[in-house]
Amino acid sequence: MLDLKNDFPTLLNNPNLAYFDSAASTQTHKSVLKAMNNYYEHYRSNTNRGEYEISEKASIAIDVARSQVANLVNVPTSSIMFTSGTTQGLNIISRWMKDYNKVLVTEAEHNANIVPWITQGRSIERGNLLVMPINDFDGSIDMYELEKLLQEHANGHQDLLVSICATSNVTGVTQPWKAIADLSHKFGATVCVDFCQTVAHEEIDLSETQVEFAVFSAHKMYGPTGIGALYSSFDFDDLYPQYFGGGAVEQVTFDNVTLKQGVDKHCPGTPDIANIIGFGVACEMLKYVGFPTIYLQEHDVLKHLLSYGVDVLPNCTTYPMEGFKNNIITLIPDRGHSADVGMLMSKTDVAIRTGKVCAHPIVDRISRGKGIVRISYAPYNDEEDCKKLCQELQSALLKVK
Ligand code: PMP
Repeated sequence: MLDLKNDFPTLLNNPNLAYFDSAASTQTHKSVLKAMNNYYEHYRSNTNRGEYEISEKASIAIDVARSQVANLVNVPTSSIMFTSGTTQGLNIISRWMKDYNKVLVTEAEHNANIVPWITQGRSIERGNLLVMPINDFDGSIDMYELEKLLQEHANGHQDLLVSICATSNVTGVTQPWKAIADLSHKFGATVCVDFCQTVAHEEIDLSETQVEFAVFSAHKMYGPTGIGALYSSFDFDDLYPQYFGGGAVEQVTFDNVTLKQGVDKHCPGTPDIANIIGFGVACEMLKYVGFPTIYLQEHDVLKHLLSYGVDVLPNCTTYPMEGFKNNIITLIPDRGHSADVGMLMSKTDVAIRTGKVCAHPIVDRISRGKGIVRISYAPYNDEEDCKKLCQELQSALLKVK
């Protein structure tokens, strides 16, 4: 097992911290910080406006970052738009799709793929929001049920959007998103996939399986906070911009505005330059390290967790019933409230998450409103972390009445 803690400054500076909240946010890799600092220290300037060397360099750095992000998911550079993260990406897509008759989501969505639809007046009751249930045994959706829904609600009418998270931040389960996309396309539906919890764990090749939209966030892939990507297979020229001003315009008079072409039309104002540069480096790093290595390292972390008894912790059940998926371990306490466990754990050096983890409908159902205890690990967790986590969690779960 590789010792990676030294590569993550927050872990280095908090030697006692056992960080198990990587599904909320991974730690930032030192190469990302180095690239961001390099920008601030050596070529700090605005982009695309100054005809001088360092501004030119900053503009090129943004182009490079965009191609690094595009390269990670194997799509053309011109199809990537920077956002502040997955939530913003999904909000923008929801506005583009507002005239679509129906939207289909799964029951295990993050609030980010529920709230934008509800706030535009959709609901199950009105029939313009369809929700696929997930199976408590293995967290999957029923593909036959999906086919039936698609047959009934899409079937050639191109105004059904299937918007799903590939990997749930509650169950850790990755849905067969390629099969879902293919099936949805067969019935003429448009597909949007939230890869937020997937993109740092497995290779996503969007040239192989087409989806119309994809979103993800840098802070869940060892990059900086506050930056993410929106991939669109539709030409950005054909989509209506949601924000106006500054850098998005070609020409302004007091009577008329001419917007820029392509993705720039959607990105007003000064870009988030340092974060974009850091995001690109994070993508490059994932490619360089490679998903097989990441998988093996995460597998070793799980082996340590199991050796310290994460699967036999007292007074709780695991969800989904079949067992843990990806890097997420979800426990439902049998006694008290998840907040009781959270309160006890907050007095330790172990960082985990309790509550509804921003996925209210599914957590409310599976925990009967009491919330879950979520452990999420990453390649930088070592054996000592795993031991500490299991000991502290065991002690907390035994204390809750
Ligand atoms: N979708 C999923 C599956 C997530 O896990 C998260 C973050 N917890 C989001 C969307 C929202 O991402 P962000 O906070 O980066 O906008």
